[in-house]
Amino acid sequence: MHEYSVTKSLVDLCNQEADKNNLNKIHKITLKIGRFTGFSPDSIKFYFDYLKPNTKCVDAKIIFKEVPIRIKCHDCKQESVLDEPLFLCPHCGKTDISVISGREFYVESIEGE
Ligand SMILES: [Zn+2]
Repeated sequence: MHEYSVTKSLVDLCNQEADKNNLNKIHKITLKIGRFTGFSPDSIKFYFDYLKPNTKCVDAKIIFKEVPIRIKCHDCKQESVLDEPLFLCPHCGKTDISVISGREFYVESIEGE
């Protein structure tokens, strides 16, 4: 149910932006979604279709731009791209790492008229 609340916020945000920019209808929402968030695009799409009637998003579709998880190891200084959100350097096995990208979750652009 994680995705329900973020999708609800997304629809609210898009409607506010549409009001601010005098848009009657939103066609396209480009969403940056980092793998580290654990949010599933399929679930977001599902809740979006459920929430969008009677909003300015009714005809909108979401373009997902997934951001891979990138970490940097403070020990061996190597950067790695991970498929799973792990706090472990695949090169040396140490846990002293920073997450450089993958936590993103924001609307990159909204198109409408
Ligand atoms: Zn390392």
